[in-house]
Amino acid sequence: MTTPVYENFINGHFLKNQTGDTFAVTNPATGEVIYHVEIADEFIQNAAIESAKQGFAAWSAMTPIERSRILLKAVAILRERNDELAKVEVLDTGKPWQEAECVDVETGADVIEYFAGLAPAQVGQQQIVGNDFYYTRKEPLGICAGIGAWNYPLQIACWKSGPALAAGNAVIFKPSEETPLGAIKLAEIFIEAGVPAGVFNVVQGAAEVGQWLTANPNIEKVSFTGEVGTGKKVMASAAGSLKDVTMELGGKSPLLVFDDADVSQAVSAAMLGNFYTQGEICTNCTRIYVHKNVYQQFIDELKTRTEQNIIAGDPMDPEVNLGALISKKHQELVLGYIDKGIQEGATLLTGGKALSPASAPNGYFVEPTVFVDCKDDMTIVKEEIFGPVMSVLVFDDEDDVIQRANDTHLGLAAGVFTKDIQRAHRVIHQLQAGICWINSYGNSPAEMPVGGYKQSGIGRENGIETLDHYTQTKSIYVGMSNIESPF
Ligand code: NAD
Repeated sequence: MTTPVYENFINGHFLKNQTGDTFAVTNPATGEVIYHVEIADEFIQNAAIESAKQGFAAWSAMTPIERSRILLKAVAILRERNDELAKVEVLDTGKPWQEAECVDVETGADVIEYFAGLAPAQVGQQQIVGNDFYYTRKEPLGICAGIGAWNYPLQIACWKSGPALAAGNAVIFKPSEETPLGAIKLAEIFIEAGVPAGVFNVVQGAAEVGQWLTANPNIEKVSFTGEVGTGKKVMASAAGSLKDVTMELGGKSPLLVFDDADVSQAVSAAMLGNFYTQGEICTNCTRIYVHKNVYQQFIDELKTRTEQNIIAGDPMDPEVNLGALISKKHQELVLGYIDKGIQEGATLLTGGKALSPASAPNGYFVEPTVFVDCKDDMTIVKEEIFGPVMSVLVFDDEDDVIQRANDTHLGLAAGVFTKDIQRAHRVIHQLQAGICWINSYGNSPAEMPVGGYKQSGIGRENGIETLDHYTQTKSIYVGMSNIESPF
């Protein structure tokens, strides 16, 4: 059976490359190639820049309210096509349908809707200075590049294009080579909604295409989502033309469970923050610090619920709540970390092996895995695994656990479970992380800015401040009296 071949999406339509080079995309739940994609060669790259220049000229000339109206049409189409788009995400990523159906498209659409609403409300300032005055304009940057990871492909494309387009920029987006279809679907939807051709372009490929974007002097900004190591390369390359950067990188986030917490709620948070999207979420609380007084109760409930309530299998089955990891390579990486945990002396509470569910026997599944008796210096406690692997640690003292939680070069997220309202805020204020939850974990509404401290990132996505990251301020001084000149 022949599989479809998708071309790059440039200037409002699909455009064939000249080299004929393609790459294959595999459904992680079956191990089968489901389609091929053409790689953006030099011809496509040049066309993308020309297209984005024209797109920018047309789009930035529109009023914010016109742009807003068009983006809201795209939001409506995204919601109408929810199920079709959710299926694309399930087949590309291996994540469960029951998640994609209510989260992936929805949270992407929410962010475009949020920024479409904000765009006309963005105002400059004016101030009187003596007899004169100045005013400021919020102007778009020009062409912005987005580079995405594979865990939430459509959502990431929406989170990057929403503020960029609302502010009047053109975008060249490169999805992950593991999950390239969602961004193409979004590009088609933008055209259908009335976004002018050239405003949102999709180029396809792996690191080389990403490197071209980060180095190209016509591009004013790069918004990147991916690993810390790749983020450093992107930033170094972007420095060559002094591009603005937003970095949404990895994490190794702590969840602190105090002895007055609702333990069942804390277990729910720990499971969501380690097993949702089979553990492939950047903000996951992979280090769970539990107070010694509730430690046994916590791990007993965690073990029971993990062993009884998780259903792995064909991700399109609505009953399935644990999908396949993105690739064979990633499955091996995650299993390698599990081996390392065992070698370094952690105790396996549950899980630890590859899975071959009857309904998806060839998929890249890993059992939901919990390690206890973990120590702070173990590899599984220090490094991002990006799979369904949780490390549980015990603590006794508040100040000590805060220091342990902060003892990492990462700082994406953190959480606290306690019924003591003063402790909740006191502790969370001391945790070095950009996204924090109290008696909750993982929710990330469009209104809330998200991004990392330390090496987990630079800049923010979502929330009002993000619109500023996609504009530049022009100050205009107006002389109202004669110039006093010594010459
Ligand atoms: P990755 O860094 O391997 O790849 C991300 C993207 O960068 C891909 O599109 C890839 O093709 C591209 N790329 C690779 N090398 C490049 C280079 N030298 N120059 C430019 N682009 C290059 O990350 P991944 O494996 O796709 O995603 C998983 C990682 O993403 C995890 O670390 C996870 O924590 C992180 N992540 C972070 C967030 C966040 O919001 N903070 C969200 C999702 C994922």
